[in-house]
Parts: sequence; structure tokens; C-alpha cells
Amino acid sequence: MNKPLAPTGLNLDEPLLWEMGNPGRTGFSMPPCDVEPHPLDDDIAGEGPDFPDLNEMGVVRHYTRLSQWNFGVDTGMYPLGSCTMKYNPKINEKCSQLAGLAGLHPMLPAGMTQGALRLMAELERFLAEITGMDAVSLQPAAGAQGELAGMLLIHSYLKSRNVTRNKIIIPDTAHGTNPASAALCGYRPVRIKSGDEGILTPDAVQAVMDEDTVGIMITNPNTLGLFEAHIKAIADIVHAGGGQVYCDGANMNAIMGMVHMGKSGVDVLHLNLHKTFSAPHGGGGPGAGPVCVARHLAPFLPVPRILEKDGVYHLSEDFPQSLGRLHSFFGNFGVMIKAYAYILSMGGENLKKASQLAVLNANYIKEKLKSVFHLPYDRPCMHECVFSDKFQREHKITTLDMAKRLMDFGFHPPTIYFPLVVDGAMMIEPTETESLEEIDRFVAACRIVAAEALESPDLLRGAPKRCKVERLDETLACRQPCLVG
Ligand SMILES: *Cc1c(COP(=O)(O)O)cnc(C)c1O
Repeated sequence: MNKPLAPTGLNLDEPLLWEMGNPGRTGFSMPPCDVEPHPLDDDIAGEGPDFPDLNEMGVVRHYTRLSQWNFGVDTGMYPLGSCTMKYNPKINEKCSQLAGLAGLHPMLPAGMTQGALRLMAELERFLAEITGMDAVSLQPAAGAQGELAGMLLIHSYLKSRNVTRNKIIIPDTAHGTNPASAALCGYRPVRIKSGDEGILTPDAVQAVMDEDTVGIMITNPNTLGLFEAHIKAIADIVHAGGGQVYCDGANMNAIMGMVHMGKSGVDVLHLNLHKTFSAPHGGGGPGAGPVCVARHLAPFLPVPRILEKDGVYHLSEDFPQSLGRLHSFFGNFGVMIKAYAYILSMGGENLKKASQLAVLNANYIKEKLKSVFHLPYDRPCMHECVFSDKFQREHKITTLDMAKRLMDFGFHPPTIYFPLVVDGAMMIEPTETESLEEIDRFVAACRIVAAEALESPDLLRGAPKRCKVERLDETLACRQPCLVG
């Protein structure tokens, strides 16, 4: 195709600043200098880096265009399953930037930081109440570190009772961080298969439970977006065998304030404040992965812990059985402020409602799309639903092709090829913050993509076509990233 001489659409071919520069251009206009040049000037200025000469508008347009190439929750729907990419109200960001909080030095004495200590103590209490657990540490900086904290807590507890065990049961639906955290703690992960309904059966757990079993790591709701309905029976089996129950609570957005984790037999659970409680995530953090525990594990929580007496807060290291520190100072305090502001501004009833809407939205999508995408577990889901590319595969169209094509319609693709138990998985999590109109637009785009897969598969194989860059060789892009444009 001949390239037209003049651009025909949006010009998204952004040159480097060096390619845009032209000697003599300048980004400012000021009166001529009326001060004698200082003899030192030449020495200081020296050769200097070879910066291009640019005008102000060129620079502004360059950076504004670059900023628009980004995609985030603020620009469009981001249905990335397992990640809870919901909209985070800006007021929570503002709160975390309040000078009195953002400028606080972590080494100030308790007498000067009562507000911050109270905020953390109350956040611990809120999270305990939302989950139905007894005590909380806010220290872990991410979900995975919360998992490690949980494993270390269980290890410390068993050790205090002179029990040495090595094996930990992990279902095949688990997030990859689960076996990694267990292994980091020196445990040997043992994988068990989920039942035909996509959830664990008590029998499968009973079959592997033995005297060497530390416990189980169970995700609830699990990564298929299904509620582990047998959690109590499973916990009873593990406890009867002398083990402990770890729950991966990264999917708490489906059940805030609705499931009493303690009563369902969970001994320790982590939360992702950066998924469920309004801290933006992606790009590497920061996040926070508090651990919530039942009473018998509380003595082992990381120090320092926040104590309150007669309305005065202080930090205490006086917990001889504590597993020690997991993070410098208190963890990622800025993230805690966002979660605290979010919880207070929502209130208990609205947190529940948020979870109910997240579940409703996911079920709506599941029902709207199950005629065009294969739904391996056709039953009510929680906050996310998982399809596969089984219907499209006979036309040689894969999950990857469809995910790429969705970008042409302005949507971030869902999570793909996870969980591993579903071949060619597409995992969609709309969250509670998308409107019905936006969800309908997403459903319409998915239906078009599904129809194209049958009628014009070539459109999908080359997708995306309307984005700045077309299909990348993803392996090559990782191994040899091109960082110069
Ligand atoms: C996100 C996630 C994790 C890990 O959390 P990070 O904060 O990324 O370390 C663990 N388990 C599940 C189910 C998750 O979705």
C-alpha cells in the first residue's frame, strides 16, 4: 500500500525528542541577559550532554501523547481476572498525601504519632471484623509476603508445640505464589486436584492428609471464581490431623463482610489491600498484604505490634514468640491510609454491597457470554468467571488471538491462560465499579470477537490492528526489549 503524503488519521508515530530537535529552537523567551558572563561559566557549562533544541509546544505535545498511550482503569474497563482492577476513588489518594501523614517520619516517638498509630490500630480492627478473624498484622508488603508470613506463623506455632512437619497441601487452582511461599518456608507443596465442580472435595484432602502435613493453602473464592463450599469440612479434616488452614484471601472482593473466615475453620488469611481495598496496583507496587489470624496464632505475629491503653497507642516489641520483623518500620503506610479511607467512606453495609455487585456483574457476563464462549464450570460464580477457547479452537483461533482482538475495541484483555486447570482460559473480572452500560459494551465486543473467530478468523490472527503497535512477538519482546522507540 502506498503511504499517503499527508497523515490520514491520528498520528501516533511518536519520534524521539532528538529527532524532533532543530538547532536554535527554544522552549522559553526571556529578555536578553544584562549581566556580564562570569568567567567560571564556561568551565561549569563544559561540553554537557547533547540535548536537542526544542520549542515548548513540541515538548508538551510529545509528553502528552506519550501519556495517552497508557491504559489504566482511569481510561477504560480492565477486566483482568484475579487482579481486581477496580476504580480507586481519588479521595483515598488525596488522604494518603495529606502533609501530616505523608511527611511523617517513621522514627518519631509514639507521643508524636498518635494519629498514625490509631489509624493502623483501627485498620487492623476493621480488617479483623470484615474477615471474622481475631488479630491482624499490617506489615507484609504484598500478597505473596502475606503468604510467607502465614507460613512462618504456622511454622512458629507448630514449633512451639514441638511439631515438625514438611508437607503442605495446595490445590491445582492455586495462584503460583502459594507453592512458592510454602517452598520459601522450607515446606514441600503437594498438589491436589479440584473436583468436577471446580472446587475441592473433602475426600481429596482426606486422601493426602497425614502426620507429615503442615496444613493446607486454600484460596476462597478460588481462582476459578468459585466458592470453596466445603471449606468447613476440609478445615475439620486438616485440624483433626493436627494441621493448620491457610486461606489465600486475595479474592476478598467477592465476600467482604459476608463470610466469617474464623468460623469456616481458617487459622490464617492474607488480604491484598491493593486489590480489595482501593490501592491502585500494577507496575510493581507498593501494595500491602496484611495477615489476619485466629487467636492461637496471634502471639507469633510480626513485631512491632500496636497496643492501646486508655486511648493512648504505643508500639511494642514485647512478644517473645513473635516471628520478628518482615518489613522495615511498619509496612507500606501509604497503602494503609488508602484502605482506611476507603473502608470508612464506604461503611460496612456498602462494602457488602460492593461485593454483591462484583458478584452480580461477573454472573451477568457469564450468562451473556456462555453461548459464545465455552464455560467449563456452568454454575453461579463469585467475582469472576472463567471461559475457554474450546469453541474457537476448531477454527484455529486461540484465547491469545481473541484477547488481542479485544484491544481493537478499546478493552484491556482479560487474564488469559490462568488458572492452569482450564485449557486456554479467559478469566474475566468486571468488578463492582463498572456500569451496566460499560459491561454491555464489553459483552458486545466479546460477541463480535467470537463471531469473527468463525467468520473471518484472519482478522483475529493479525490483531490488534487499531493499536499503536500490532501483534508483538512476546517472547522476543521480553528477551530483547527495544527501549529506544
Ligand atoms: C494477586 C494474588 C496473589 C499475590 O498477591 P501479590 O500482592 O501480587 O503478591 C496471591 N493469590 C491470589 C489468588 C492472587 O490473586
